[in-house]
Amino acid sequence: MLNTKKIKKDFPIFSNNNCLIYFDSASTAQKPQKVIDSISSFYSTSNANVHRALYSIGEAATDSYENVREKIKNFLDVPDSHEIIFTKGTTESINLVSNAWGRKNLNSKHSVVVTEMEHHANLVPWQIITEETGSKLNYIPIDENGNLKIDTLENIIDQDTKMIAMVHQSNVFGTINPISKFIQKAKEIGAISLIDGAQSVPHLKVSIKQIDCDFFVFSGHKIVGPTGVGVLIGRKDILEKMDPFMGGGVMIDEVNMKKSSWNQIPLKFEAGTPNIAQVIGLGSAIDYISSIGLEDIYNHEQQLLRHCLGRLKEINNIQIYGDYKNSGGIITFNINGIHPHDLAKFLDTDNICIRAGHHCAQPIMNKLGVSSTARVSFYIYNDIEEIDLLIESIKKTVKIFA
Ligand code: PMP
Repeated sequence: MLNTKKIKKDFPIFSNNNCLIYFDSASTAQKPQKVIDSISSFYSTSNANVHRALYSIGEAATDSYENVREKIKNFLDVPDSHEIIFTKGTTESINLVSNAWGRKNLNSKHSVVVTEMEHHANLVPWQIITEETGSKLNYIPIDENGNLKIDTLENIIDQDTKMIAMVHQSNVFGTINPISKFIQKAKEIGAISLIDGAQSVPHLKVSIKQIDCDFFVFSGHKIVGPTGVGVLIGRKDILEKMDPFMGGGVMIDEVNMKKSSWNQIPLKFEAGTPNIAQVIGLGSAIDYISSIGLEDIYNHEQQLLRHCLGRLKEINNIQIYGDYKNSGGIITFNINGIHPHDLAKFLDTDNICIRAGHHCAQPIMNKLGVSSTARVSFYIYNDIEEIDLLIESIKKTVKIFA
């Protein structure tokens, strides 16, 4: 297992909040001092705008910003760094594709396919664009264990399907989806594939070359980076054919009173002053996570998952959703007679943070026949001892409500 005592020392939130137990990393991860320092150091030593300043600190800022593109290329095994676009987060990355690709390529004959397991970020943008273009939005269903019904694939995806957009790892069940089957299917029918990697990139070794999808998206803040930065990775030839998402500075080649032409990718999609400090912070987060190693992170979380699942079964009247045959470190459950919001509030009195709500996945909640659930999610700073304290605290809450 990872040395969590040592890792915790890297995260000031734990020394500033005595005995804090944080089980909500699927929502946002805590930040190591190195990431915080990298942001502060940028502002204190080389703050300047990027891609325009001709003086030294401006060049230093541009170098630091562009170096992160190279880091991401290596970290995620991306074929070409021009295929990496900085955005505000997963949500913006998907909206960029649904607008800039969708508006040009969808019409009333077409369909977009998503799954019932999507976070609203990979659902609502497709609802908006299919409505606007008159195309259909079809869903791959899930079963009661939180697995995709793969056998429905042949009925739902057909020659009219132009986009298959799906989540790599579910933020509700933790299910790791068989994305290669869907990407393969997309290739067979000439459709585009988009993978939402918001929950996979922080926890699994990802190779874009191996996955071989057309678009891949993730957020910096779930991988110990700052908020306000995310990434869209797109196949070069597709990005080159797409119109810009936003207009403004930097994304242009030439502008006259009547017309403008566009910069090369990736800058065509990075209009205006970008989130420079956040991008630099993301680079530092990638260094930090790489120094621990994604295989060790995955194995650590698997041990926490197994231990927690075993111990949760001691709780009377608990319903755990999902079968956890192939999933990351996320557990979703309800305890009969205790609203998940009450559970979260009571656990908070023991300094334990869990998530309660619909997890921005209301179609899943509808499927489960509930309006909300409790969710615990693990990361590199969590350990077995904390899980045992969680179980004690849940048992105490159950007694209060009995
Ligand atoms: N997709 C999934 C699977 C997520 O878990 C999240 C965040 N909870 C998002 C998309 C949206 O990410 P962000 O809010 O960082 O844009």
